Amino acid sequence: MFDKPAGHDQYLVKDEPYYELVGDEVALYEAAYSARMPMMLKGPTGCGKSRFVEYMVWKLKRPLITVACNEDMTASDLVGRFLLDKDGTKWQDGPLATSARIGAICYLDEVVEARQDTTVAIHPLTDHRRTLPLDKKGELIEAHPDFQLVISYNPGYQSMMKDLKQSTKQRFGAMDFDYPTEQTEVSIVSKESGVDADTAGKLVQIAHRARNLKGHGLDEGISTRLLVYAGQLISKGVNPEAACTMTMVTPLTDDPDMRDTLNAAVQTFF
Ligand code: ADP
Repeated sequence: MFDKPAGHDQYLVKDEPYYELVGDEVALYEAAYSARMPMMLKGPTGCGKSRFVEYMVWKLKRPLITVACNEDMTASDLVGRFLLDKDGTKWQDGPLATSARIGAICYLDEVVEARQDTTVAIHPLTDHRRTLPLDKKGELIEAHPDFQLVISYNPGYQSMMKDLKQSTKQRFGAMDFDYPTEQTEVSIVSKESGVDADTAGKLVQIAHRARNLKGHGLDEGISTRLLVYAGQLISKGVNPEAACTMTMVTPLTDDPDMRDTLNAAVQTFF
């Protein structure tokens, strides 16, 4: 006895997500999807990978099931497990099994966070087999023809001793993502937060300075997401300097010298 997989429609993205085109990523992804090629989106946190996936599933009219990966995640969290209830045990599909059954695009966000013994659960779905064995249940799911697996991957994490095995990496086509160009980032920040182009331009300038500090005391540059946060606070009437400290300095580092350096960059512009 098991639950019927939840319907396809509830996972559809109904309204067009705002996505600012960066290059030829839409055409490349469409080609990859038409071959049902598993895809790896590489790039720093907060640079637009998830937004791109939301936009593509909307464009392709496919359901999207997103999983935020973490190191405590087990293969059962992805595949499914038996649950105990008052009537006995019942099988509950995990997000990977549901995606394979209903033909969703399954997006495993920050997949490096998952342990390698969890990551291997995706192997049979990412080669010619396109199957998912539910060992505990004794079932083999043949993936729906529309199913595709997409993972995001932050190359910066390699320095933190986290990486995918070659046997996992070499199952994916990959696309590089990075912070958008200045002009594109200004329009993203302005549209997403409501600040004018002049203010968005200043936020982007501060980010450019901070991004140069990556590897020189900062693990990661200021993401587009944080610039949007800064803009949102400024739109709510928060003093720009305080808004920048709250979103573009304090989250990034606890090092007092680095905070001074970042705050100095903020004061140059506001
Ligand atoms: P990632 O998945 O790379 O960590 P997100 O896709 O969540 O990052 O992007 C963070 C935020 O940055 C988004 O919520 C959006 O506001 C903004 N953003 C980044 N790139 C774009 C883009 N090309 N078009 C529109 N918004 C973007």
